[in-house]
Amino acid sequence: MSRRIFGVETEYGITCAAPPAEAAAPGEGTARPVTADDAARYLFRKVVAWGRSSNVFLRNGARLYLDVGSHPEYATAECDDVRQLVANDRAGERILERMTREANDLLAEEGVPGTIHLFKNNLDSAGNSFGCHENYLLRRRRDFQAVGEALVSFFVSRQILTGAGHVRTRPDGGAAYAFSQRADQMWDAMSSATTRSRPIINTRDEPHADAEKYRRMHVIVGDSSVAETTTMLKVGMTDLVLAMVEDGVRISDLAMAEPMRAIREISRDMSATVPVELAGGRTMSALQIQEEFHQRVTAWLETSGEEAELTGVQRQVLDLWERGLAALRTADPSGVETELDWAIKARLLERYRSRHRLGLDDPRVARLLLAYHDISPASGLAASLEKRGLMARVTTDEEVAAAVDEPPATTRARLRGDFVATAQDRRRDITVDWVHLKINDAAQSTVVLKDPFSPVDERVEALLATLRE
Ligand code: ATP
Ligand code: MG
Ligand code: MG
Repeated sequence: MSRRIFGVETEYGITCAAPPAEAAAPGEGTARPVTADDAARYLFRKVVAWGRSSNVFLRNGARLYLDVGSHPEYATAECDDVRQLVANDRAGERILERMTREANDLLAEEGVPGTIHLFKNNLDSAGNSFGCHENYLLRRRRDFQAVGEALVSFFVSRQILTGAGHVRTRPDGGAAYAFSQRADQMWDAMSSATTRSRPIINTRDEPHADAEKYRRMHVIVGDSSVAETTTMLKVGMTDLVLAMVEDGVRISDLAMAEPMRAIREISRDMSATVPVELAGGRTMSALQIQEEFHQRVTAWLETSGEEAELTGVQRQVLDLWERGLAALRTADPSGVETELDWAIKARLLERYRSRHRLGLDDPRVARLLLAYHDISPASGLAASLEKRGLMARVTTDEEVAAAVDEPPATTRARLRGDFVATAQDRRRDITVDWVHLKINDAAQSTVVLKDPFSPVDERVEALLATLRE
């Protein structure tokens, strides 16, 4: 299978929880609460001190920045392997978690009451939505629009496997479990922005690479994933579907008549069997659509001979994809209840609710749900679920620790990471983005890296030599 570059951008939710009232000393009770904006400024204070900006590239090749709406964002460096991507996405959590601890120390030093929490989710308590964007490099082709339209059906139905799980408020005021946090928001985005006809795949043409050869497909519909296995499946299954489509296998018969309506209906139907109308007039359920994609991918892998070339992690992806479908088919999630976010979360919820006899709409349930996404090992649940074997891993702690400090070795990210690390060590002033490396105070010092696949470049060697002078 030809190599592909991918990267994931994760926007994090941020809050600063006030200390419990009884903990405040007399007279302190009137302290101004720390807003999300303030919290984000505390979070980025050290970054701004060394990078002189809240938009920086790191030694591991990633981009860390503060976007509008105070959401800290981490965009992984370019990866060319799913396992590598999972490690890099996880490295982002570790980096932000460390920043959170440091920011909380700062708050304490300054006597500001409150504790900052970061959440890897897609919805804040006020109902604002923020995203997890997947980026996939595609070979440029003329029929991208048609391919994109057919792929929408894949992305709309994929949530039955890769959704993060969500308790939504029904129109009658009751609470109900749904697959995705993001699905309802995509519908909102559609209704208000009628000029943007296809928000699931953002068609903005900004390839961060040689524009003659490549396109970057920017997918903004997915939920952020907590379990590594869910991230693995989300990116891995998409990569395989893209490879199949690029090889000419047609999927246009699976295009949906009304994807924006379908995305909402599919999210709300935990049986995954509600019929969805296809563009051709037939109906299929999300489960049937995903089974069809899975079946076409496995058939294509066999006939194309690609089957023999699959990597270990690609085999894991196919296996989990199949087991996820089986779990839905049999309405028995036990086969994936440590691997797929929606199933892990549902199990956690059920146990907690039956132990404490709580309704789905109880505030304690809402707090448990939020803790699932809290990236702190102290206040969040993921670390302890992993330790207890209730949330599966793909990587090891060592791999994640390495990805915090080092760029992926097989892509352009390596050049960027080496450049940033050398400049930081030598205290040199540089400007960096996905394709450019520049030494600010040297002549002829800009290098343009149009090939995201290449981890070696003589021009960058020369830049590094200049930095070391
Ligand atoms: P913004 O989020 O500010 O709107 P953006 O969508 O360009 O801009 P960034 O946050 O800068 O996104 O992140 C870009 C992501 O795309 C990163 O995860 C990066 O690894 C990935 N990426 C970079 N170059 C390519 C490429 N040529 N093909 C696919 N992915 C790429
Ligand atoms: Mg971004
Ligand atoms: Mg983006």
